[in-house]
Amino acid sequence: MTGEATDRPLFADGPFGPRVDAARARAAESIGAAFAPHAVADERGVFPREVLADLGRSRLLRQRWHPGPFGDAGLGVIIAEESGRYGHAGLSVGVSLCLETVGSILVRYGDSPLLQEYLDGLLDGRLVGCFGASEPTGGSDLNGIRTAARRVPGGWRVTGEKRYLSLGLVCDFALLLCRIEDDGGEADGGLGVFAVPASALSIRKRLRKVGTAALDTTWMTIDARVPDEALVGRPGAGLLVATWGLSHERLSIAGQTVGGVAAATGLATAHLHRREQFGRPLLQHQALRLRLADLSARLLSLRFAVYSAAQGIPVTGACGPRETAALKVTATRFAEEAMSECMHLFGGAGYLEDETPLGRMWRDTRLGRIGAGTDEMMWELVASGMIPDFVGYDELVDLG
Ligand SMILES: Cc1cc2nc3c(=O)[nH]c(=O)nc-3n(C[C@H](O)[C@H](O)[C@H](O)COP(=O)(O)OP(=O)(O)OC[C@H]3O[C@@H](n4cnc5c(N)ncnc54)[C@H](O)[C@@H]3O)c2cc1C
Repeated sequence: MTGEATDRPLFADGPFGPRVDAARARAAESIGAAFAPHAVADERGVFPREVLADLGRSRLLRQRWHPGPFGDAGLGVIIAEESGRYGHAGLSVGVSLCLETVGSILVRYGDSPLLQEYLDGLLDGRLVGCFGASEPTGGSDLNGIRTAARRVPGGWRVTGEKRYLSLGLVCDFALLLCRIEDDGGEADGGLGVFAVPASALSIRKRLRKVGTAALDTTWMTIDARVPDEALVGRPGAGLLVATWGLSHERLSIAGQTVGGVAAATGLATAHLHRREQFGRPLLQHQALRLRLADLSARLLSLRFAVYSAAQGIPVTGACGPRETAALKVTATRFAEEAMSECMHLFGGAGYLEDETPLGRMWRDTRLGRIGAGTDEMMWELVASGMIPDFVGYDELVDLG
């Protein structure tokens, strides 16, 4: 990626036009070059770090977070879309975990020299970071978090376990949501995010998954002694910090979904042109054509929504946790349906691993409804901001 980093956001003049086209082409080229050597990464079950190293060398990662604290959210969704379009979700989810969840947190809250060093390494592709919230006792309900950060002379001792740590096997550091134990301190009992080095992580169990096998996900135990400067944000503000990172991840997931479904519908459309049954191409069977048209119409709408959300990120109130949750849950539920339909349009070949990639895309996409918060947690966020129209109700509703 040779484009200049400027202070003008990519979507400054809207999400379409020659400037966005050029950035998209550069992003797609960098992503293609970084992903291509790892076509069989699913078989190893360990995320290839070289993917992030290559993207760092292309300067794509650094440009995404220039300038802070929001970085270039438009470039963020273009990267998500193009990496989703590549059709290897184990790789694209690994990139977005490091770049969006960890990156957004460090850009906004990483104000110590240690955290700045982590951020710098991440943006260069030299260092890989992961994010751990979920535990055996706390998945959807983060109040169940038991991993403890206890104040000790000169810093903190972090001990506990994280049930699902994606990139845990290849990371250099992990940002962990912890319960603070600080006798007499005002944040005692609250949550805080702490950066721990990979040397503090031990494998409890490697997890075999239904899809996204290229993304290692591991049950890890933690025992670390870290300095004060490893605390990310204020003590007690852990949920705020985590929500900031997860909101970026959720928008990225919606963007990856746009790219992934576009790839699947593109393949399905080509197949309907090529495959003939009952004496004519499948596309000429109206039932199939309109099914694909319905998916394409919903995809178009989702794409506009994702772009609009990216434009709203730097505008306070225009796009926050509620909006990104709404997008993520709607996008991933749509993607599950769309992948299944596209697979179906290939008939038997859709179900064959060696003949089409649709089966893998369908399996991979299911993670979207779970990771970074399940459907129900997303709907709860949406529900928390639903506004009743009592004035209209009193005017228009008469229950007798
Ligand atoms: C492949 C993979 C990778 C992951 N990577 C990471 C990672 O890197 N870092 C990380 O921190 N986590 C990670 N996770 C964990 C993921 O975020 C959690 O699995 C998810 O948030 C759900 O938590 P849980 O599994 O404990 O399910 P639970 O919280 O036990 O929920 C079970 C079901 O009950 C529903 N539910 C729970 N409470 C309610 C309620 N009040 N109302 C309605 N429904 C409810 C949930 O929506 C879900 O359907 C990963 C998970 C997977 C599968």
